[in-house]
Amino acid sequence: MRRLRSVKIREIAEKIAICAYCPFMCKDICTVYAQTKRDSLSPTMHEYLLWMILEGRMAYSREVGEILYEACSGCLLCQSWCASKQDVPEKVRTARMDLVELNLTPQPIQQVERSTVNLHNPYQEPHEKRLIHLAQTSSSRKGGGLLYFLGCTAAYRRPEVADVALRLMQRCGEPTQLLEDEWCCGLPQYELGLMKAVKQLAQHNCEAINAQSVRAAVTSCPECQYMLNQVYPKLGYALNIPVYHTSQYLKMLMDAGRLKLERKLEPSTYHDPCYLGRRSQIYEEPRAILRRLSEDFRELRWSRDKAYCGGGGVAYSITYPSNASKIGVKVLEEAEHLNVEALITACPMCKHQLLNAARGRIQLLDIAEAVELASRP
Ligand code: SF4
Ligand code: SF4
Repeated sequence: MRRLRSVKIREIAEKIAICAYCPFMCKDICTVYAQTKRDSLSPTMHEYLLWMILEGRMAYSREVGEILYEACSGCLLCQSWCASKQDVPEKVRTARMDLVELNLTPQPIQQVERSTVNLHNPYQEPHEKRLIHLAQTSSSRKGGGLLYFLGCTAAYRRPEVADVALRLMQRCGEPTQLLEDEWCCGLPQYELGLMKAVKQLAQHNCEAINAQSVRAAVTSCPECQYMLNQVYPKLGYALNIPVYHTSQYLKMLMDAGRLKLERKLEPSTYHDPCYLGRRSQIYEEPRAILRRLSEDFRELRWSRDKAYCGGGGVAYSITYPSNASKIGVKVLEEAEHLNVEALITACPMCKHQLLNAARGRIQLLDIAEAVELASRP
């Protein structure tokens, strides 16, 4: 066992104690515990582990590292059920920064770090191929009034989400450009405590975005939006333009009469992505769009701040793919129970994970894809 050298978790000792001695235990609602049923991965238990370290009864070790990385997907669902509104993933993230400093990170986290440093994305994909999966006709790559921040998941896993968003913008007379040298937004690395990499990514993207002559940025990825809008300024890299999620921007275009719908969709439901909902509090814009798309929009039983996680986010899906691949099953079961034609979400990662878990059981659409279907002339 290694002695604690860092003092980062000491700064949040009181918050750790609240969970460590919590009588209510959000254990059963926890996204990771619900999948693994391993007590050591429940919020109370891993926070108790941190409390033991703070009390000097344990020390950080490789085993502690394995637990603290596997234990939390960062979904923030526990906070919605917690009487004292604790931010467990923030505490986990702080401990992970200690683990990074002590060189005690598990192998998958080291792989993300290497991939970020060498390829500027967490997926181990070639940086020079970031834009090649997009349809060439769908975007004006230079000279737009709007910047589309692509994000790694749309770039390497779900390019159709970006293509549709770009096509819609163009159809509405919104010339939209991409960054020629976009790097990962840094959210996966931020969750993993890899702060050196995060700062490099933030500095690069901030300088690249602020050098563009555009009035706003749009992204389909809630993780990118959260990172660019909320985390970059805290790190000293504030953007000089607002960053909208596609659901916000498409609603603005509809409200302005610039995006017209031609037909109604079959009954559908909506999954709130964790970073769009709980982290950014964007619940209404997607629903305003979906109510216009379908006369029979049905809510999942657990929605808004109580929505189940759809698949663990980018960091967790890369580092613990086996756990993450099962996370979306609860969302799918709820959607099937509603007997709808389509499950619509607003995040390329949610779509990717739910699509893999669904295996054709239900139609999965990003919100931009649903809008495009309803607006086809
Ligand atoms: S997040 Fe809230 S409910 Fe969960 S263990 Fe901590 S204090 Fe208890
Ligand atoms: S953020 Fe999600 S995965 Fe992490 S402890 Fe809370 S419910 Fe569990």
